[in-house]
Formats: sequence, structure tokens, C-alpha cells
Amino acid sequence: MHAFDYHRPGTLKEATALLRKVPNARALAGGQSLVAALKLRLATVAALVDLDALRELRGIRLEGATLTVGALTRHAEVAGSKDVAIGIPALARLAGAIGDRQVRNLGTLGGSLANNDPAADYPAAVLGLGATIVTNRREIAADKFFGGLYETTLKPGELIVSVSFPLPKRAAYVKFRNPASRFALAGVFVSESAGTVRVAVTGAGRDGVFRARAMEKRLSERFEPESIAKVRVSPDALAADLHAGAEYRAHLVTVMAQRAVAAALGGH
Ligand SMILES: Cc1cc2nc3c(=O)[nH]c(=O)nc-3n(C[C@H](O)[C@H](O)[C@H](O)COP(=O)(O)OP(=O)(O)OC[C@H]3O[C@@H](n4cnc5c(N)ncnc54)[C@H](O)[C@@H]3O)c2cc1C
Repeated sequence: MHAFDYHRPGTLKEATALLRKVPNARALAGGQSLVAALKLRLATVAALVDLDALRELRGIRLEGATLTVGALTRHAEVAGSKDVAIGIPALARLAGAIGDRQVRNLGTLGGSLANNDPAADYPAAVLGLGATIVTNRREIAADKFFGGLYETTLKPGELIVSVSFPLPKRAAYVKFRNPASRFALAGVFVSESAGTVRVAVTGAGRDGVFRARAMEKRLSERFEPESIAKVRVSPDALAADLHAGAEYRAHLVTVMAQRAVAAALGGH
């Protein structure tokens, strides 16, 4: 790890000013991805701006048809929240299956989204629910947020403040996880709300999270697992690595999607 300065601002305004003023400064949330990258010298920063004291980035609110989760909310808080369990139980279950206890007690929603690991779970929920990412500058629709691997449309110094999730009629997330890291080899988030079906896939895409449009079309006609039993995503766009080949991942996506639909219907 290279040497760097450390700042702990007390307000979002101070944090934004530091990120603008200090060259090569980077926000620090739970540190579960960034600190490892620094240790391995995969990332270098001149300064870390610790977001931990920013109250504006905390809290979970269920109001009307929207669930708002602060960017600094830990995975364990989402997993244990009564409001999340009432509003979007699939999101609580997703958060409860991220990594291990230590990762869940430190990792945050905002950090996971900004990092956009191609196998991370939250991107699937955000895309699969059509959520809105609220930053210190603007609101970004989920469909316009995720770029390629580890890429988002966040600008330098732009901070995620919260995420607004519209409440679905029903939703579920099922992942086939790597037994060592617990990251998804293929994870599928399915939601249905007022006639609209969204299916988001993580872990499998060569360029990160994506929507499975052919599955969405079939499920909009009939929301049941059999509707997508023969729908396959093309392996050409899927990742192949030492954990799994593209063909195998394509197979997993269909199986996980069917299981997610069954779970959304209350099957298991
Ligand atoms: C052993 C292990 C297992 C894991 N398993 C899983 C898993 O199964 N599923 C899964 O989804 N994830 C998993 N993770 C990743 C984990 O969820 C991390 O918490 C997450 O990737 C990063 O969140 P963080 O809060 O720790 O962010 P940090 O590591 O602090 O930051 C990550 C990046 O996000 C930026 N950032 C942080 N907060 C903000 C913000 N509010 N606005 C803008 N940029 C911001 C930082 O500058 C940095 O670039 C695992 C991690 C480990 C170490």
C-alpha cells in the first residue's frame, strides 16, 4: 500500500469540496473493495475521504410507493430492516446473502454500486427494480447508471447519496454463488409491477449487469417459470473464466431466472 492522506469530513458539503479540491482523492465507504485494492496496489490514491460521519448518507425510509436507502447503509442494516422487509423483502434477502458477516457489517449500498463489480448483487436489484440513484448532483435512472466492468456514469467527485426503489408488486433474487467468495456466478433479480416485468442478471455478463429483455417479454405475457424455460441468453455476451464457462453461465441464467420467478410467486 502506498502512503495517502486521510480526511474525515462531517458533512456532504465538506466531502464534496474535498473531493473537488484534493487531486486524486477517493471516497471511502465500507472499505471492503477499496482497501483491498489499495493493499494490492491495484489502486493508488493521494487521499481518502471517509464518508462514515455523513449523516445525510444514512437511513432507510419507506414512504408511499418508494423505499429510500441511504448510500452509507450497511448490507447488514438492509438485511435486518423492518421497512425493507415490508417494502421489498427480496432486497432484504439479497443483502443478507452478500459475502460473509464481516463484509455485511462494513460494506455499503453506495460502495457496492459505485464499485460495480460484475458479480455484485445490488446492481441486479437496482436494475431489476428500475431504481433511481440520487447523487450530490443529480438523479440517475438505473438503466443509465451502469457502464462496463467496474464502470458507472458517476463523474469524478460525484457521490451517491441514496437510492430510491419503487415498490414492486412482487420480486425475488436468486443467485448461484461461488462457494469461496459468495459472489454470484449468475444471479437474477426479477420484479413485476403494474404490468411491467424487469429481469436483471449479474455475475454472468462479460460487461457486467444487464437486462434479459427476451425473458422480460415472455414474463410480461405470462408471469410463470415455464414461460422462460426455453429462453437462453447468448453465451457470446457472457463471461468465461476459471470459475465457469460462458455456456455454463448461460444455462445458469435460465435456471436462476426460473427459480426467481417461482420465488416471486411464493413457490420457495
Ligand atoms: C470477502 C468478500 C466477499 C464479498 N462478497 C460479495 C458478494 O457476495 N456480493 C456482493 O455484492 N459483494 C460482495 N463483496 C463486496 C462488498 O459488497 C463491498 O462492500 C462492496 O463491493 C463495496 O462497498 P464498500 O462500502 O466496502 O465500498 P468501498 O470499498 O469503501 O468503496 C468502493 C468504491 O466505491 C466508491 N464509493 C464508496 N461509496 C461511495 C459513494 N457513496 N458515492 C460514490 N462512490 C462511492 C469508492 O470510492 C470506491 O471506488 C465482497 C467483498 C469481500 C471482501
